[in-house]
Amino acid sequence: MATTFEPVLLRRVDLARSETIDVYLATGGYEALRKALNEHTPADLIAMVKASGLRGRGGAGFPAGLKWSFMPQENVQKYLCVNTDEGEPGTFKDRVLIERDPHQVIEGAIIAAYAVGASRAFVYIRGEFFVGVKRWIKAIADAYERGFLGENILGSGYSLDLTVHRGAGAYICGEETAMIESLEGRRGEPRLKPPYPAQYGYLHQPTLVHNVETLANVPHIVLHGPEWYAGIGTSGSAGPKIFCVSGHVNRPGVFELPLGVPLREIIYEHAGGVRGDKRIKAIIPGGASTGLLTGDQIDVTMDFDALPKAGSALGTGAIVVMDEDTCMVDVARRTARFFAHESCGRCVPCRVGSQRTLEALTRITDGRGAPADIAALDALAEGIGGKTFCPMGDAQVGPLMSSLRLFRDEYEAHVAGGGCRIHDPAAAAAAPASKGPRIRTARASG
Ligand code: SF4
Repeated sequence: MATTFEPVLLRRVDLARSETIDVYLATGGYEALRKALNEHTPADLIAMVKASGLRGRGGAGFPAGLKWSFMPQENVQKYLCVNTDEGEPGTFKDRVLIERDPHQVIEGAIIAAYAVGASRAFVYIRGEFFVGVKRWIKAIADAYERGFLGENILGSGYSLDLTVHRGAGAYICGEETAMIESLEGRRGEPRLKPPYPAQYGYLHQPTLVHNVETLANVPHIVLHGPEWYAGIGTSGSAGPKIFCVSGHVNRPGVFELPLGVPLREIIYEHAGGVRGDKRIKAIIPGGASTGLLTGDQIDVTMDFDALPKAGSALGTGAIVVMDEDTCMVDVARRTARFFAHESCGRCVPCRVGSQRTLEALTRITDGRGAPADIAALDALAEGIGGKTFCPMGDAQVGPLMSSLRLFRDEYEAHVAGGGCRIHDPAAAAAAPASKGPRIRTARASG
C-alpha cells in the first residue's frame, strides 16, 4: 500500500503563481524567518538543525547542523552559497523548487546565513536554468522589497545581501570548491581539501555551501521543531525527500516521500509501474554517479543506510528505471560519455581514464570490442577509483564497476557476437547463448 504523506517541500508547487511572493506569504511563507530572528539565537538554530537529523540532499548526505557548527564563531566576514548547479543526469528535483517555490529556498538560506553569521550570500545557478534564473532574480528582488533581505531584516539588526551568479553549465561546478573558484571568477576546478570551505571558502573566508533542497527543509524545522522533523523518515535518515523518477515508468516525475520509503513503492505506486508491464532489468537509485541495482533489489528502502548496504547510494534521489529491453553496455557508454565530457581535466586518472573508458565502451557497443576491452575497463575502474583529486573519479567508476559486476554477461555477449544482441538482429543471430538471464534475445526483431 502506498505511503500517505502530506507534502512538505512540494506543498505549494501546484498552486497558481506558486513562485510569487504573494502566494508564498499567503501560505505561511517567511513566518519561520520571523520566528528565527525574533525567538532564536544563532546557536539555538544550529542546535535545532543538528537535532532534526537533516542531512545534505545534494548527494553526500553530510549532517547539515554539523556543517553549520564547523563555521567559526569569530566575527569575521562569512559567506553562504546556495548550490543550484543541479546537473547530474536523471536529477531534476532542485529545478522544481527553484522554478516553482524559490522563496522557500531563499527563506531557508536567510535562516542558515543568520545562524552561521554570514552577511553575504550567493545563488550559484546552472546557466541552462533559464526559467530558474529569471524566477530567482524576481524572487530576490521581491524579498528585498518586502524587507526579508538587505539591511536590518524585519527590524532584527541582521543584514544579508543575496546575489545570483550564473554558471556556464559545468557539472564539476556542483562540487563546492570548484563552485567557489568559479564564483571568484576563475576556471571551475576543485580545490584540495582540507581546508574545507567552512574554514577557507569564497575569497579565503569561511563559507557555508548548501544544496537547494537542503535549504528548503530549514524553514519547516524552525516552524515545526526538530522533533517533528526527526519523526519523519528513519532514525539515520530523517525528513522528507524529493525523489525524481525517470526512465521506463508510466508516470515519470518528482515525488516527495519520507526517507526510508521502499523503492518498489516509488516505482509501482507513485510512478505508475513499468511501461508495458515489462520486467525491470536495472535501476539507478540516486543519480548517474551511484551504483546500479538489479530488478531483484527493488525492495530496498531509499535512505542513507540501506542503499550502501545494497551496493549503491541515495545520492540525489534520482531514480532511473530500465526495463528488460535495455542494453546495459550502452547505458555504461552513455554514462561514460557524460563523465568524459565533464572531467575538468585537472588530474590524469580522470582526464585520461574517462576518455579511455569511453573509447573501450564505444568499441564494444559498436561491435569492434575484444576481450581485452573488458579487461581494460576493469583496470581503468581500478586505476581511477580513489586516485583522483576530487570525488568525480569515484563518481564515474561506481556505476561502471557495478555494471561490470552485475551485467558482465552482456559485455561478453557484445564482444562474442560483434555488437548488441538486444538492438541488432544480425549480432543476435551470430552470438552464442547468454550465460545469464538478463539479456532478451527475442527483442531483436521487435
Ligand atoms: Fe577534475 Fe580530477 Fe575532479 Fe576529474 S577527478 S573533475 S579531472 S579534479
